[in-house]
Amino acid sequence: MHDPGHGSGRRTIESKYADEPLTQNSGDSSYDAVALMPDVKVLKMGGQSIMDRGRSALFPILDELAAAKDKHKLLLCCGGGTRARHIYAMASDLELPTGVLAALGGYVPRQNARMLQMLLAKHGGIFMLHDDFEKLPLYFRLGCIPIMTGMPPFGYWEKPTENGRIPQHRTDAGVFLSAEVLGAKRAIFIKDEAGLYDDDPKKNKSAKHISRIGARELLKLDLPDLIVERIVIEYLTRARFCHELQIVNGLERGMVTRALEGEDVGTIIYRD
Ligand code: ADP
Ligand code: MG
Repeated sequence: MHDPGHGSGRRTIESKYADEPLTQNSGDSSYDAVALMPDVKVLKMGGQSIMDRGRSALFPILDELAAAKDKHKLLLCCGGGTRARHIYAMASDLELPTGVLAALGGYVPRQNARMLQMLLAKHGGIFMLHDDFEKLPLYFRLGCIPIMTGMPPFGYWEKPTENGRIPQHRTDAGVFLSAEVLGAKRAIFIKDEAGLYDDDPKKNKSAKHISRIGARELLKLDLPDLIVERIVIEYLTRARFCHELQIVNGLERGMVTRALEGEDVGTIIYRD
């Protein structure tokens, strides 16, 4: 096309990034981004904490989700649990690298997602892959509950770990990253404890419940163990959209529903 403004005849495109190298973040600290689907409720169904407990734990939660799905857009992501830990243990014994563990560990939450899809089929449960993100508007318009693995698709390209070989980005990380890219303000984690404590309540009976805490504050506490993958707390400090993680006890009736209604039940870990 002829561009009257330039003698060379070459067309230039006006852009505020025209003089930026775009190979690193420049001094410009602004970062404008559009919240793509801010009203989607991104949920994680715990692997070990819920799925592995079987029907007694799972079915009441599925009832709550089925009852909520016409009111809320639910994106249900699955954890792996004991079977994923088993493959990590086996593969570690065989001295396979982190990327292989991440690839192998990805199959288990996918199995869980397939089971959840079947169980929720009559309520519109639909299995999706990461590449189906673009179909979410269609699924919601049709009244579906899209269900996918919580595992992020890094697989062999999993980032090197600080220590050990267990992938740092597992299903908690995938759920947070999904909420972040969709522009959802909260990611909801359905687990088997009432949220975060100052120690693992299964090992320490006098552990104290923490109902609200900032991510930086939590990292500074350097607790012996956490209820979500530690790397998620680090990412939360630089989240653009997903500013809150909510952890609820799915074994307690009504908690999932209350979380979907926006009540601050369980623990809220926020970007501080
Ligand atoms: P998921 O099933 O979603 O993968 P996990 O089993 O990995 O969940 O994590 C939940 C478990 O984390 C809880 O059952 C609890 O025993 C344990 N946990 C460890 N540290 C903490 C803590 N500081 N506060 C609460 N729970 C903790
Ligand atoms: Mg876990």
